[in-house]
Amino acid sequence: MDRRDFVRNLGLTALAGGGLAACGREGEGDGAPGGQTQQTHEWRMVTTWPENFPGMGTGAEQLAKRIQEMSGGRIRVTVYAAGKLVPAFESFEAVADGTAQMGHGAAYYWKGKSKAAQFFSAVPFGFTAQEMNAWLYHGGGMELWEETYAEFGLIPMAAANTGVQMAGWFNRPINDVDDLKGLKMRIPGLGGEVLEQLGGSPVNLPGGEIFTALQNGTIDATEWVGPWNDLAFGLHKAADYYYYPGWHEPGTTLEAFVNREAFEALSDDLRAIVRAACQAANLDLLSEFTARNHEALETLRDEGVEIRRLPDDALTALRETSEEVVAGIAGDSDLAGRIHDSYRRFRERVVAWHDISERAYLNARSG
Ligand code: CA
Repeated sequence: MDRRDFVRNLGLTALAGGGLAACGREGEGDGAPGGQTQQTHEWRMVTTWPENFPGMGTGAEQLAKRIQEMSGGRIRVTVYAAGKLVPAFESFEAVADGTAQMGHGAAYYWKGKSKAAQFFSAVPFGFTAQEMNAWLYHGGGMELWEETYAEFGLIPMAAANTGVQMAGWFNRPINDVDDLKGLKMRIPGLGGEVLEQLGGSPVNLPGGEIFTALQNGTIDATEWVGPWNDLAFGLHKAADYYYYPGWHEPGTTLEAFVNREAFEALSDDLRAIVRAACQAANLDLLSEFTARNHEALETLRDEGVEIRRLPDDALTALRETSEEVVAGIAGDSDLAGRIHDSYRRFRERVVAWHDISERAYLNARSG
């Protein structure tokens, strides 16, 4: 948008004035270009993350700050960590019903609302971070995500990506696929369904409850994120074995979701700012996860944590079962079928490219 358009949009916003009161208090602008009176928007952001939790909690805070800075204070976002305004898993509902204007979480937490939502966080043996962003921004994924959340009155945005996660912490060794049987594991989303197919018992717990559940034996294992986040929770003090790779979450998108009425009450430039802030956060958080994970991995090694690769037969069984479970969602609705189709076709083509680019290069680099 050039400056002339920018100023014209500001003018339209000022003219629209009181008609834009959907999302909270209106205020007097301070020094807006052109001198028009500017509406300010007071937003609440509810999150599924513990306060200040590295990457997630801090990412939500940074996003709020970025939106406020980019908008020159015309959008002010107050962040509420999990449980402060509503419990973690009620965030989706709270933004849908207007209790908050914005939420920060991960789409697979909402599988009870829409099974198809899971495609927009992580798919077992699915996209890496780079592939996911390619699908979302340039492969039709974003439009399908918007369609999925439209029925709840929400607008989704990608707002972070963890990169490849770890398979998780186990209080007993996994020597073959049979060791997954009877395993009570905190693992959300599709990964949990895959584990269930292989005889395990998946549990969905918010991050803040994991350590205690693992330590007191309520669960036998947990996945969380990767070294940076897992170290912060002290999970190495509650289980002996740390397994890789994160087959179930190879590049998890974290999301911002915005109440549609609140978003539509914004002027065009403010809408663009919210979208751009999320896109910047998506890049920044992936970069931060990558930088911090390897530092934390060194610390965990120094602490004597036993880091193991999942056995081949377990990975093979998990991969084959994942294909079935993911395909099973396609039958949930017409929309789920279209999302699955889009995802599958994009994956086939991007894998063909990444086999001779990313994979070939990483193999060559390792010598
Ligand atoms: Ca995870």
